[in-house]
Formats: sequence, structure tokens, C-alpha cells
Amino acid sequence: MKTNVGPLGLFCTALLVSALTLSIRSTASFSQYDSPPNTPSNTIPVVTTYAHEADEVPARHQAASAAVQDAADASRLVVRVKKGDTLMDILMKSGVAADDAEQAISSLREVYNPRRLRTGQKVTLLFGADSSLTPASGYEPPPAAGSEDAGALLGIKLHPDAGREIAAKRDPAGTFSAAETQKHLTPVDVRSAGVIRTSLFDAAKAAGVPQKVLAEMIHAFSYDVDWQRDIQPGDRFEVLYEKLADEDGESVDTGNVVYAELVLSGQRLALYHYTTKDGITDYYNQKGESVRKALLRTPIDGARLSSSFGKRKHPILGYTRMHKGVDFAAPKGTPIYAAGNGVILSAGRHGGYGNYIEIRHNPEFHTGYGHLSRFAKGIHAGTRVTQGEVIGYVGATGLATGPHLHYEVIRDNKKVNPLSVNLPTGRKLRGKEFDEFLVAKAKVDTMVASLPVEPKIASSE
Ligand SMILES: [Zn+2]
Repeated sequence: MKTNVGPLGLFCTALLVSALTLSIRSTASFSQYDSPPNTPSNTIPVVTTYAHEADEVPARHQAASAAVQDAADASRLVVRVKKGDTLMDILMKSGVAADDAEQAISSLREVYNPRRLRTGQKVTLLFGADSSLTPASGYEPPPAAGSEDAGALLGIKLHPDAGREIAAKRDPAGTFSAAETQKHLTPVDVRSAGVIRTSLFDAAKAAGVPQKVLAEMIHAFSYDVDWQRDIQPGDRFEVLYEKLADEDGESVDTGNVVYAELVLSGQRLALYHYTTKDGITDYYNQKGESVRKALLRTPIDGARLSSSFGKRKHPILGYTRMHKGVDFAAPKGTPIYAAGNGVILSAGRHGGYGNYIEIRHNPEFHTGYGHLSRFAKGIHAGTRVTQGEVIGYVGATGLATGPHLHYEVIRDNKKVNPLSVNLPTGRKLRGKEFDEFLVAKAKVDTMVASLPVEPKIASSE
């Protein structure tokens, strides 16, 4: 998708990853390989991110992954890439010999750049079973992949994109060779709906909505919905998304979220995935307004609101005065994003603010960012920035008791509450473009009305 997701996208990626980690936890606890009796648990360094899964792609689809077919009895380790992990890290943590790891990676490089590894992506490792370690009785489970007894690395397999498979396989001579296969994928529209009892997350999961689709929905609605306060039991959701099927009709991934709807306390919010003539894809409401706001209310990921806007006793100065911004507590070095497109007005030392950045977004709106530990590369007065671009890093410079971002929204030279100010919306479709949107919208509405809701499949994830 060509949408510029910005920090919300990052937020959702993090959410998706944590959601996936949860699902892996439950998978792992049912695995026969989980903590086999003869394997000390500490041989699998980070147990929550590792799971032994049955290969999801049936054998007839594995043209390139001969390594997997060669050794049906070999042990398999599926590793979820964690933030900051390199392929080398993953192989080393999984108990692969350094020589093997280097050879396997260097062969993969012919078809894939290992630096492209994304957080949350799956890497499948195949280890050769050593028959001398398996008792003849067969009552003991085979050694866990990744444990010292698992044997040598036979292969690596990963899917950088839907339908694209990269595999490195060890040949009998012990050297690795890599191959890439591309499957042709066809989108199939799927409609899901449900009633929210506790959270959208639980309701969507119960309805069999894939987590990637759910994360995309959350991202799209995040500009308008306060997930903590706006959701009530009895609220409803609906989503129309694409499942991507390969040549054999096997569903291998999901595509676009075509339409998403929330009915919150009787109020309907409907979003349409739409690409304008200039090639920019975004979500639009029924009125043809992009859901993306011109400014982010929270220009930082995963931070905790530590001080709100208004009168407060200053933690250092001791006396009561107006706090003309909001504070987000976050570890030093956490990236800070430009809240919107604009030009850096100033980036430098600014009294009690410490390292401070002010961005001019338009004649009406400016934003300010205080206490930064440092500025991002290339950020200085006059630099043009886009929404979601990293401009600096959290610190405690100036009058600050601990690392946090002091964030200000300045409207017509007056500091206003970033969390409650009515922010300008993004794009609004007009004229011919709006007419075209209405045609596309009508098509989607018809599709939503005619498609049956996909029945819940208990073990869909
Ligand atoms: Zn502050």
C-alpha cells in the first residue's frame, strides 16, 4: 500500500507485533516441542518470541523450499523478528553455528538484502535431526529446534512480501544456495462484522479478522477514535478486506482494507480506501474527507501522558503557573515526529525548554517540541519536514526533572491544548475528484451490502 502511515503506522506495527507475540504464546504452549524434558529451557533464549509451528504452506506450494521437503522429520523453528534483530542475531540466538550462519546469510544475499528484515516478520529455520539422539522407543520428543541437540542448520526460509519466498538450502556438500519464488496472488473480497463486548481487538479476533487487517483498521480510525473512552459494549464493527490467494486458491496473505465501519454509541463512522489521481492512497469518510489530520495529537510512539495542559505547580520552579503544552514521558532517545508537514522555524537552545524545535505548518498553526536530547540529522531552521518524519529525540534538557517531550500546538500565536484543539483535517476531495470518489464509494457500498459476512472460523489465526 502506498499510504504514508507515519508514526501511527509505526504504532500499529508495534501493536501488531505485540498482538502476534500474544498469538505465538498461545501456540507455543500447545506445542509438543515446548520445553521438552531433556532440553533446559534456557537453550531457547527468548522463549516468548519463538514458536514451533507446522509449516503453513502445504508441501505442494514449496517449489523453492526444497530444504523443507528434504527433511520432513527435521525440527523447525519459526522466529518472529524483534525490533533491532539482524538475521545474524536470530541465527546465533537460535543456536546456529557461526560458520553456518555466515554461509547461509551470504548465500541469501544473492536474492535478498538481509537488512530489509522487518520487525514481526517470520523466519523459518530448519535443523537436521540427528538420529543418534532420538531413542528407539520414540517416546521422547525430538530435540527442540534451536537447542544444542537440534543438529546443523539445513535451511532458512522467509517471506519478505506476500507471495514472495526466499529460501537458502544446504546441499549435501555443506554449502548453501539460495532461490527466490514469486507466486501470482489474486485478491478475494471478504466481509467480517461483529458486536463489540470488550474491545474492538477481541471482537475482530472472534470474528476471524486477520491481525494485519485489524491493525490497519485501528490505524485508520485512530485519528477519530479514542480507543480507551469511545468504545462501549454493544458497539459494532464491519470490515471489507482482500484476502490474497495463490494459484491454488490457498489464502496466503491479506491485501487492502477496502472499507471499515464502526458504530459507536449509535454513531456510524465509515471509511473508504481510495486512491486519488495523483496516486496517493488514504482512507476517506462519506464526505470525501481524508481521515488523516493535518497535525498529530501525539507526535511520539508509546509514550505516557505525564502532564496535561492547564494550571499546575511547576515541578522545578515550585510555584503554580499555566502549563501551555502537554508532556509525554518516554525514555531518552525516543524519536519525536513532526506533527505535520511544514518548515522548521527554529531548532536550538531555548531557555527552560532546553533543546527546542518550532515548526510552522501554515499561517494558523505552529507546533513546538521541548527538552530534546538532540536534533535529528539535517534539522535546522528552514528545513522542510513531512508529517511523521523524525525531527529529534526525547531528552531532559532545560527545566526538566526527567526525560519527556513537552509538546505545544500554537494557533494564531496562542498556545492551545493539543489534545482537545479542533485540528484541521487533511485532504478534502472536491469537484470531479469527489464525483469519482462517490462512484467508487457506491461500488463498495453495493459490495458490502451483497457479500455475506464470513462465518467465524474458530482457528483462523
Ligand atoms: Zn511540559
